[in-house]
Amino acid sequence: MGSYRLAVMDGDGIGPEVIASVRTLLAAINEREPALDLIPVDLPIGLAAYEHEGTTLPASTLAALETCDGWILGPLTTHLYQGAAMPNVSAVLRKRFELFANIRPARSFPGIAALYSDVDVVVVRENTEGFYADRNMLAGSGEFQPAPDTVLSVRVVTQRACERLARAGFELARRRRSHVTLVHKANVLRLGCGLFLDTCRAVATDYPDVQVDDFHVDAFAMHLVMRPTDFDVIVTTNLFGDVLSDLSAGLIGGLGLAPGLNAGHERAMAQAVHGSAPDIAGRGGANPIASILSLAQLLDWLGTRHTDLAATNLGARLWTAVETVLATDAVKTPDLGGKATTTEMTEAIVEALQAT
Ligand code: ATP
Repeated sequence: MGSYRLAVMDGDGIGPEVIASVRTLLAAINEREPALDLIPVDLPIGLAAYEHEGTTLPASTLAALETCDGWILGPLTTHLYQGAAMPNVSAVLRKRFELFANIRPARSFPGIAALYSDVDVVVVRENTEGFYADRNMLAGSGEFQPAPDTVLSVRVVTQRACERLARAGFELARRRRSHVTLVHKANVLRLGCGLFLDTCRAVATDYPDVQVDDFHVDAFAMHLVMRPTDFDVIVTTNLFGDVLSDLSAGLIGGLGLAPGLNAGHERAMAQAVHGSAPDIAGRGGANPIASILSLAQLLDWLGTRHTDLAATNLGARLWTAVETVLATDAVKTPDLGGKATTTEMTEAIVEALQAT
């Protein structure tokens, strides 16, 4: 029997609500799926941890994470984080544990009115460097201010990060429709995006069975809106990937439906694309699907890593269960035009999972 310790971290805003749904799913799986034993390990982080322990990322949490097979992280209200006691948990974990590929699928759902009904793309976003000042330096920040009216933001691009990202993208493409699109701005950011593009193209030679093309990010944003079905796996740098994955979520019905996985060679962390959504926090109406499908991605990753078909299959069944619920049109959260609560949506998915 596959037995996995899964760290569960609530986060801020709607985090405790949507991660409660993940806990419910884990409990239902443990009760009804004899082939898998998923052991939730609750770990404090974020504003709640700051209140009780004086830091958003306690050392005890970091230590416990090392003992887990996979992690689930809720969203964080990072604009409230200030100073050394309030590190951006997501950024620290991605960088420290080399979770270098942020894998963000956007797939159309039956029953969801969106621009298209047949989108199926995955953004594979670099996760450890680029323009992100909170993770692209060994010490200090990648943004600094030499004068009151002047700010410099440093972008870091390394061959190592580009290479491992590209490999993750090409491997993923082989499991899908064998098409990788490299997105960059090498006509202007000649050195940084040039290194990204050259490195990805070199990796491509190891995957002659995978079709490769590339676009400047500005033109690609248009192509993705106008003809998303022409694309499969989109490999790109950190900032471009952040933007394009929200755009992709918009193509399939919104952020409530957009899951993500931060994957490294040794570890992976499920984390929805959306933020902590303070505007709807505490009302019980957040859509838990993005977090539940992030769990599905983590199960797929565990299945591949441990050659555990039960985990892989469960990940796929979870996706089917979500599709089944959305197709019936009976249970929809407010972001999808319905009135269902987070709890009602979660219960419907648990029930549908049983039937798969
Ligand atoms: P961040 O900077 O962390 O990305 P943000 O405020 O820019 O945060 P989100 O928190 O993702 O972005 O919210 C964007 C919009 O999407 C908000 O109106 C929010 O209510 C909505 N939203 C995000 N996640 C969900 C969800 N799970 N269910 C329903 N609505 C959501």
